[in-house]
Amino acid sequence: MAHWNGPFGDGTHLARVAPDVVLQQKYPFALPPLGYANTAVVPAADASTLATHRDKLHAAHVTALHAAMEKFSSLQEYSLGQLLMGLRRWPAEARPLIREHGSAHASHALYWKLIAPGAPTAAAPSGRLGGMITREFESVEKCLAELKATALGIEGNGWAWMVKTATNRLALRVMANEDSPLLEAELPILGIDVWEHAYYLKYQTKREAYIDAVLSRINWDVAGAQVE
Ligand code: MN
Repeated sequence: MAHWNGPFGDGTHLARVAPDVVLQQKYPFALPPLGYANTAVVPAADASTLATHRDKLHAAHVTALHAAMEKFSSLQEYSLGQLLMGLRRWPAEARPLIREHGSAHASHALYWKLIAPGAPTAAAPSGRLGGMITREFESVEKCLAELKATALGIEGNGWAWMVKTATNRLALRVMANEDSPLLEAELPILGIDVWEHAYYLKYQTKREAYIDAVLSRINWDVAGAQVE
């Protein structure tokens, strides 16, 4: 874990979060456009799943984060990325609200972008992320197998994430509940939401089939942009 030398940790490895536009968002917070039709990412998510998971649950987190910023108005000047990375600095009563709703907003906004609409995209990332994956996992196949195993191993509500660590390497993390890796000063690259609400409507208890579906539809351009 990074040292906390200032409000946003040592920050060096997170200096460039521009590709993840939602992390630049400040109050007033808003649900970003989905960017594709609600039937475009079947089988990773179908229209009914998106209607509850994004249009209701994600939207509710945005509303709750917005309400928290109205209550703690001195925090309105900070971006979502800053709010999460600097959590320890904020008033104690604000922290659980930012931790839950800020994390959920950041994670879901990235998640919808990480699932590619239409036909499956390239099987491998190009550019810097491709090299980092080869270095850490040997191959994209092994990386995805490990990410899948991580996701399958989660008990209860949470997310499996591939992150960029403070030492600029890739690592897999289990994050409980809605916790964002940004709370630990690690940059989310590729994640799977394994809360039941992410798959139950379409897959019931077949969580592995859902995970396979998500991993078959990764938008590597989006994942790759996180580290460029
Ligand atoms: Mn979710």
